[in-house]
Amino acid sequence: MTTEPRDSIVKVSSEVVVCTKCRLSETRRNAVPGEGLENSRVVFVGEAPGEQEDAQGRPFVGAAGKLLTELQASVGLRREDVYITNIVKCRPPNNRPPRKDEASACRPYLNRQISLIGPRIICPMGNSAIHALLDSDKGVTDLHGTPIKIGQVTYFPMYHPAAALYTFQLRKVMEEDFEKLKILLNGLK
Ligand code: URA
Ligand code: SF4
Repeated sequence: MTTEPRDSIVKVSSEVVVCTKCRLSETRRNAVPGEGLENSRVVFVGEAPGEQEDAQGRPFVGAAGKLLTELQASVGLRREDVYITNIVKCRPPNNRPPRKDEASACRPYLNRQISLIGPRIICPMGNSAIHALLDSDKGVTDLHGTPIKIGQVTYFPMYHPAAALYTFQLRKVMEEDFEKLKILLNGLK
C-alpha cells in the first residue's frame, strides 16, 4: 500500500520554487517561499517579494527587510525565532501590487505553511496582507496594533515596513506596535 508523503514546510518550499500556477512565474527570477522557525509562535506575512528578494530567493532581505529585522530585534525577536513569508511568493513586475487572481492561485501555499507551523499570532503587514487574511473593509490605518482573535489564532495587523521607509513618522508607530506584539507574545500560555 502506498501512502501520501506527509506535508512539510520543505515540501511546500520545493513546490513553490517550481510553481507555474500564475503569470508571476513568467517574470520572476526566484520564487520566495518564506523562511524561519518551523514551529514559530508568530508568522509575519508581507505582500510580495521585491527586487532583492527575487534576486536571492529569500523574504525581506532588502531595505524593508532591514527595517523589519531591526524592529523585531528591538523587542528581542531574532529572524530565526519567527517565520516570514508573503501573500504571493513571486515578485510582481515593477513591484505592482499582486492581483486578486494571483493571490488566490498562491493562497494554498500560505494556508499549508500556516497549518504546518501552527502559530498563535499572525501579523499581516500592510493592506495586501490584511485584505487577504482578514475579512474586513478596513485597512491598515484602522486596524494596525489591535489584536483580532479568530478561532485559535490572534491576528495582529501592522504597517508594512516599506511604508515606514517612505513616511518617517510611521517608524515610531511601528515601534509601538512591536512593543504591543511583545506583550501579546509574553502573555501566551
Ligand atoms: N516586501 C514584502 O512585502 N515582502 C518582501 O519579502 C520584501 C519586501
Ligand atoms: Fe505560483 Fe504563487 Fe509564484 Fe504564482 S506567485 S507562480 S501561484 S508560487
